[in-house]
Amino acid sequence: MGDNGGIESSPVAVYIHTPFCPSKCGYCDFNSYAMSGEIMERTTATTVREIRESPHVGRPAKTIFVGGGTPTYLPTEQLVAILETVMDVHPPVDGCEITSEANPGTIDFPKFEAMRAAGFNRLSLGAQSFQTHDLIQLGRVHAPTHIAEAVQKARRAGFDNVNLDLMFALPGQSLKAWETNLATALALGTEHLSLYCLTIEQNTRFYRQNLRGMLALPDDERQTAMYDLAVERCEAAGLQQYEISNFGKPGWESRHNLAYWRSEEYLAYGPGAVGCYDREDGRYRFTNLKHPEGYSSAVEEGRPLHLRMRF
Ligand code: SF4
Repeated sequence: MGDNGGIESSPVAVYIHTPFCPSKCGYCDFNSYAMSGEIMERTTATTVREIRESPHVGRPAKTIFVGGGTPTYLPTEQLVAILETVMDVHPPVDGCEITSEANPGTIDFPKFEAMRAAGFNRLSLGAQSFQTHDLIQLGRVHAPTHIAEAVQKARRAGFDNVNLDLMFALPGQSLKAWETNLATALALGTEHLSLYCLTIEQNTRFYRQNLRGMLALPDDERQTAMYDLAVERCEAAGLQQYEISNFGKPGWESRHNLAYWRSEEYLAYGPGAVGCYDREDGRYRFTNLKHPEGYSSAVEEGRPLHLRMRF
């Protein structure tokens, strides 16, 4: 333990939540908002301030993960300002894994270059599917061709550690269509794949459509076959499964994912960010205020951002 009120001082995983997206996907129950402009700029400023005023100032980062939302929807200078602040407050250890999530429809080469120059060394691209009709139904803003283009641009910008997120058990998706998606993703040769089974969450468009019988969801048997196929194809391609949904080439497992998986501490900043950390008297977990307006007002007025719970 350090001498900062009993707060740990060893290297820790750090998560930053950026809650903005170009539009809301049909299945999404994440803390994300189809907003931009003034509120985005204000929330970036308040996130920077929250990080600067952290009780954990000086604690080194062993991983940094900027997620969302869609971090790459932020103007480049705002995304870079957030990372620079984190690195200032939480000096990265040697070899620190520094990830940004990215939407293939919200990036261009100069943005990747600027992100790489700022210190990001890993990208997690939300591909989800290589089928146009899936992407339209999901409400994604990118087209299938954007995914390979994004990987190529990332490589050219110097990213040697790239993840693709894919979803399976999509409405109407056959085992064959999933097999094609897997093969297309594996052919891109990224170091890591995250493969998630679609779940229908309340307060989403998909939930309402499902209630009305409008989604032809694969049954349990097909979902299991899809998962088994994913494990088999990834392992055949040299991507080892190291967690339920995550597959990586040996040595390219996400250290940030592993921190969650191993129930380690993770600091967290931004609207709706969830974190947990240890003190001498136990482990604390917190969730920040979710809405960017309420969160930003609280930061600006110096009010508490969350209730802290010990467990
Ligand atoms: S891009 Fe991600 S966070 Fe944004 S609305 Fe879609 S699923 Fe949600």
